[in-house]
Amino acid sequence: MKMDNSLRMFQEAQQYIPGGVNSPVRAFKSVGGNPIYMAKGAGSQITDVDGNHYIDYIGSWGPLILGHAHPKVLAAIQEAAALGTSFGAPTERETEMAKLVCEIVPSVEVVRMVNSGTEATMSALRLARGYTKRNKIMKFEGCYHGHADSLLIKAGSGVATLGLPDSPGVPEATAINTITVPYNDLESVKLAFESYGSDLAAVIVEPIAGNMGVVPPAPGFLEALREITELSGTLLIFDEVMTGFRVSRGGAQELYGITPDLTTMGKVIGGGLPVGAYGGKREIMQQIAPAGPIYQAGTLSGNPLAMAAGLTTLQELGQPCAYEKLETLSARLAEGLADNARKLGIPHTLNRVGSMVCLFFTETPVINYETAKTSDLDKFSAYFRNLLEEGIMIPPSQFEGMFVSLAHTEADIERTIDASYKAMKKL
Ligand code: PMP
Repeated sequence: MKMDNSLRMFQEAQQYIPGGVNSPVRAFKSVGGNPIYMAKGAGSQITDVDGNHYIDYIGSWGPLILGHAHPKVLAAIQEAAALGTSFGAPTERETEMAKLVCEIVPSVEVVRMVNSGTEATMSALRLARGYTKRNKIMKFEGCYHGHADSLLIKAGSGVATLGLPDSPGVPEATAINTITVPYNDLESVKLAFESYGSDLAAVIVEPIAGNMGVVPPAPGFLEALREITELSGTLLIFDEVMTGFRVSRGGAQELYGITPDLTTMGKVIGGGLPVGAYGGKREIMQQIAPAGPIYQAGTLSGNPLAMAAGLTTLQELGQPCAYEKLETLSARLAEGLADNARKLGIPHTLNRVGSMVCLFFTETPVINYETAKTSDLDKFSAYFRNLLEEGIMIPPSQFEGMFVSLAHTEADIERTIDASYKAMKKL
C-alpha cells in the first residue's frame, strides 16, 4: 500500500506540531502506524494523499452523520460564508439553531452554543457548581468528556488509547474534586453518594459510553442515576456530544426516556464544523451570563458558518426514516462482523447502539472500562491494519466505536463485511 506522501507530510509536521498532529488519536500510535493524510471525502468514501480510497467509519469522529461533503451542507456553508464569516454580533441563525435544538432534545429548554465538546462539558460543570454551590463532581471510569482539567481523570478515548496516566498538569487540588466510579456499577455510585453526596454538584455521564469502545448502559443504570441525583440535589449531566442526534434525533435521553438536568452536545450539531453546545432546564441555564452571574463566553461562538452546517445537518436528520435507515445499516454491519468472528472462531464481543458499533476481541461481556481492557489489543491493531489494506477505515483504536452514516450504502456495508472476513482470517 503506497503511503509515501503521508509519510513525508508526517515527517515535516513533526517538526512543527507536537507529535505531528493536532489531536493525539490521529497519530495512529496504538495501532503501530503513521497517520494517514487525507485529501478529500465524498459520501461514505475518503481518499488519502497517496490516492488510496477507503470506506470511512470514523466520520470525523462522529460529526459526519450525513457523510463527507454533503451537498446541502456545503451549499449552506457557502451561502453563509458569502455574507461574512463572523461578526461577533448575534445573527438570526443562532436563534433558529437554538429553537431547533430545544424542539428536538427533550430536556433542553435553553441552550448556549460553544465551539467544541470540551467547552460544552467544561461550561456545564461550571454551571452545575455555580448553581448548586458545591465543588465535587462524579464521572465514570473510561468515559471521556473532553480535556478540561476536572474531567481528565480516568478518561477514555485517546487517554485510554495511548495508555496515558491521568495527565500531568492537572492540579491535585482539582483532581480531588472529581470522584470516579466504574460505569454501570450502581453499588459504587451509591457508596460514593453516601460519602460525598451533599458535596456533589453533578454527575456527568455518557448515557451510552463511546470512549472505551461502545458500552451501553445496563438496564436501570441511567434511571437509578436520575433518582439518586434528584434525591441529593445533584445535577445530572448527560454528555451527549457523541450520542446526541445520533442514536435518535433527540439523543440517548429520547431513546431511553430519561430527563437530565443539563445536556452537553457537540459533533453532529456542527455538521463537521467546530461546534459544541450545552443546555437544559431554563431555571438553571438562566444562571449563565449575561442572564445570570456564571461567566462563559466565546469570540466565535454561534459562528454563522458553523450554524449553517449544523442547522442543515439537524434538518436533514428530520427526514422520514433517517434513523430507521441508520439502524438497518448498522444492525446488518454488526451482525456481519460478529458472524465473521464466529465463523473464524475468534473470541469477540459486539456492542452496538444505533449507528455506534464496536467489535471487541474478547469473550468477556464489555460493560465497563475494566472489561473493555480485556480486549486483545494486538489483535485489534492487526485487524485495523488488515482492514486498511482492504480499503476500510475504522477508528485506529479499540477504545472507539465505528460510526455508520446516512451516506453508507448497503453495498458499502456488504463490502465492509467481506473485507472484515479477510482481515480477521489473516489474524
Ligand atoms: N464528550 C464526549 C462524549 C466525546 O466523545 C468528546 C469527543 N470525542 C468530547 C466530549 C470532547 O469533544 P471535543 O473533542 O469536541 O472537545
